[in-house]
Amino acid sequence: LAGHRLVVVSNRLPAVIRQDEDRWEVAPGSGGLVTALEPVVRANSGVWTGWPGCGGEAPVEALLDQFGERRGYRLIPVPLDGKDVDGFYHGFSNETLWPLFHDLLGHCQFRSSTWQDYQRVNSRFAEVMSRQVGDNDLVWVHDYQLILVGAELRRLGCRNNLGFFLHIPFPSPDLLRRLPWKEPLLRGLLEYNLIGFQTLRDRRNFVNSVNLLDDVQIIARKRYHTLLQYRDRVVRAGNFPISIDVADFERRARAKEVDEAAWFLHENLRGRQLILGIDRLDYTKGLQQRFLAFERALEICPEMRGRSSLLQIVVPSRTLVPEYQRHKELLDREVGRINSRFAESGWVPIHYQYRSLDSVQLLAHYRASEIALITPLRDGMNLVAKEYCACSIDNNGVLILSEFAGAADQMGTDALLVNPYDVDGTAEAICKAFHMPLEERQQRMRRLRQDLRRNDVHRWVGRFLQDLVAAGRVS
Ligand code: UDP
Repeated sequence: LAGHRLVVVSNRLPAVIRQDEDRWEVAPGSGGLVTALEPVVRANSGVWTGWPGCGGEAPVEALLDQFGERRGYRLIPVPLDGKDVDGFYHGFSNETLWPLFHDLLGHCQFRSSTWQDYQRVNSRFAEVMSRQVGDNDLVWVHDYQLILVGAELRRLGCRNNLGFFLHIPFPSPDLLRRLPWKEPLLRGLLEYNLIGFQTLRDRRNFVNSVNLLDDVQIIARKRYHTLLQYRDRVVRAGNFPISIDVADFERRARAKEVDEAAWFLHENLRGRQLILGIDRLDYTKGLQQRFLAFERALEICPEMRGRSSLLQIVVPSRTLVPEYQRHKELLDREVGRINSRFAESGWVPIHYQYRSLDSVQLLAHYRASEIALITPLRDGMNLVAKEYCACSIDNNGVLILSEFAGAADQMGTDALLVNPYDVDGTAEAICKAFHMPLEERQQRMRRLRQDLRRNDVHRWVGRFLQDLVAAGRVS
């Protein structure tokens, strides 16, 4: 990092604090971002700031100090109370920005009270950070919950190199126009030196949106970034598709316990092709359309009946949001309807499980499935698609992927791309995957995995930080 220290901020810290009877414990957080960033933060004794995920009842600072000492970097908590979490997180982040940025305007709530909560909490993050940031530090802010942190840091006099990465899609200018607070959000983004998006389409949507402001000009469009002149500064917007730790997934997928668990999983299904879906419960994931497409596939391809099952894992998420509760009820009904229509003795078309999987089970599901059916209506990237391919160590899985997932940009040639709104088209892709000869499956999967190995998450971190260093200090 050319002598710079790294300060990362994300909504949640990479540590989970929980109570075991009357003892408080702290454990490492999971997920791709933690795996990718922790080694970098540790290597340069950096700082990670975020919400610890619990209220004031836990001895948060002592637990985080202890955890940070063990892992070789510092963790700084941003305390949030119930009202903050309601308005900033459940409210503006998840009921306004999340649906709007996923092109699902009908799910959006526009409430000025939650917008105020969002501004207040972003400013709190910046205040906590400003006490930690030294002159030579690089600051990397993550995701849609914290868009305004950069602008708040500038207000507090911070002149460091500030980078922001948006993990979710960026909407088209026409959609963004609906947001009453679009201008402060866009101007907030322009306070960063480097703004990273998942795909070229997201970057273009952003550039086309800020281009409508009077004081922004496009200076240059390059392959990986666009340079913008904003007032007296140059701002760089780039696309950096996030990935996974491919070598780690491959290694763990070969473990004996995963091998055994995969064998048991398939043994239960007695010679059938397993079609796998794994998603958080979220209306962006296209689950209802997916069930309809599978139902249609059973109609147009009757030889699949009794010889294939859809195993859909739905991971509980945002369980307190009423919209998510209603969505779950809808999915429960849909699965019941399809199963009662087609089930025969000894065969159920859809195995539907509302739970999360531990790591061995997750990898076993990836390994055991002949087909992955990943059909979000819109998704920033979709890591499940990449994890499925990394774990297909015999190269015989088929990936069916929505063209509206960021991952389609890199995987579109060898996955079967579908439009999830096109139920008939998706059903045809399911039939095609079911009948695909082994040789074709292997050719496609080999190419997918070769490309994935070249573009793993370590390359993603490296590319972003290299660009952030190059983005230059604010003059
Ligand atoms: N995942 C998990 N537990 C599960 C199932 C999945 O932790 O029971 C992980 C999965 O390995 C992946 C992430 O959840 O890394 C989902 O990421 P993705 O980008 O596909 O979707 P998101 O949930 O972030 O919208």
